[in-house]
Amino acid sequence: MRKYRVAYLGSDSEAALLIKGALERAGLEFVAASRDSAGVKKISDFDCDLVLWDLEDSNPNEPTPVAQLRKAGLENMPVTVVVSKDQEEAAAKSLAEGAADFLYKPLEKDPLPRILTALSTGQRQRRIAWSNRVIEDTGRQIRGILANMSDPAYVVNPEYQILYMNRAAEEIFGEGLRGGTCYHVFHDREEPCEVCAKGRGPSRWRAVLKNGKSYRFMSAEIRNSAGELERLAVATDVTVDEEVRKIYKTFISNVSHDLRTPLAAIDQYVDILQDGLVGDLNEEQRRYVDVIKRSSFRLRNLIENLIDANKILSGHLKLKMEKAGIGKILEIVLGHLRAQAEDKGLELKVTIPDNVPPVYADKALVAQVIANIAGNSIKFTEQGTVQVRAGYIPRDEGRIIISVEDTGIGIPKEDLGNIFELFYRVEGDKVYVEEGAGLGLSISREIVRAHGGTLWAESLEGMGSAFHFTLPVHKDESGAH
Ligand code: ADP
Repeated sequence: MRKYRVAYLGSDSEAALLIKGALERAGLEFVAASRDSAGVKKISDFDCDLVLWDLEDSNPNEPTPVAQLRKAGLENMPVTVVVSKDQEEAAAKSLAEGAADFLYKPLEKDPLPRILTALSTGQRQRRIAWSNRVIEDTGRQIRGILANMSDPAYVVNPEYQILYMNRAAEEIFGEGLRGGTCYHVFHDREEPCEVCAKGRGPSRWRAVLKNGKSYRFMSAEIRNSAGELERLAVATDVTVDEEVRKIYKTFISNVSHDLRTPLAAIDQYVDILQDGLVGDLNEEQRRYVDVIKRSSFRLRNLIENLIDANKILSGHLKLKMEKAGIGKILEIVLGHLRAQAEDKGLELKVTIPDNVPPVYADKALVAQVIANIAGNSIKFTEQGTVQVRAGYIPRDEGRIIISVEDTGIGIPKEDLGNIFELFYRVEGDKVYVEEGAGLGLSISREIVRAHGGTLWAESLEGMGSAFHFTLPVHKDESGAH
């Protein structure tokens, strides 16, 4: 371990000797130097943790030790001034400029405790200075990134005054708006919008801006290097997304309603046939009618899925949030999944460690997500295992991760990025053709997003796939889970 190093700057050999003795007894390193540029150079080479700077007969108008060290490029060097009783004013000035402490002369017989206190204050000052530098550097980097971004971004203070706008924001709203009130300038509103409203954590919001385009806003509170709270907002152009969504919505709504009516008629007539109301069916006719019945059941499922998807796309997803154990949620769908797996001769393994805390979620919807992804795993696996696992990630606010892994056909690399799109299905000679409309994953992703979580996939073609999603841990009022 490196030993702490302390330097004495001055010409009082008696004081120097006393300090040297005390430090060396405690196993600390010591160096003495003169109070001039040669001395400053010496302590710089010595890489000190603390400088004891004797003010001696220094001129009251002379720059303080902290200022002199700063000038010599040693801005973060902790300093304790050594003063006589009549130099109190100089000592106070030094403290005001950042000295860690002061020592009176004549020094106490054992100056060690006081020096150790100064050393620890100095270390703290160094750590704070370092953290501030990191904050400043990060702030500079963030502004650098924001400046070159094609998405509009701005920073406001708690009084909703615009402190910063990047070029993309200026291209929409014009230059010279700093100092203006953000909700007036950006959204023509009389009160703060969802993005910047006080007392909110990170938030999301959609709005149409002055250029007629739709944007999705995300914002977060940040602290500047002076420790003041600011809010950074970034907007993404979602005009095309919105258009596409509108088309999907109308399409799905028309198709699902148009399909329901003839399907009801098919069901009704199949029931009449099966019940023998128009005469008995022979064996062959009965088999055909069964096939019609099963197919209409599948079609009904597809339509229900389409209607679900539409609700989600229209933003009508209402979450019934409650505290729920992940085991209990799994129970809702496990019976059905087990039966599906058994039918195909697959092993379904479920692992939930005891220490997984409860989530804050809509149980039925999360169960639907698990049913969708584990159902896919069973559908696209011919032999081997489907494994459902839950785990706890303590990072940030605490999250639960649920993973479903299979040993199935896998997903080709070029399709992996698209499987969460509406209606997307992998096609190709190698893919075993199965029923499905390409809706399950897009619905699942929307559900997980609505919970503030993330759903993603990994896969190797021919080897298998893994789907993972996260959910926030339930926190009670005390913040504990
Ligand atoms: P579908 O109703 O077609 O299953 P999804 O949105 O659930 O729709 O899935 C989209 C497509 O992603 C599927 O058609 C399939 O091609 C692929 N896929 C999803 N899960 C898996 C998996 N576990 N293994 C292989 N392919 C998968």
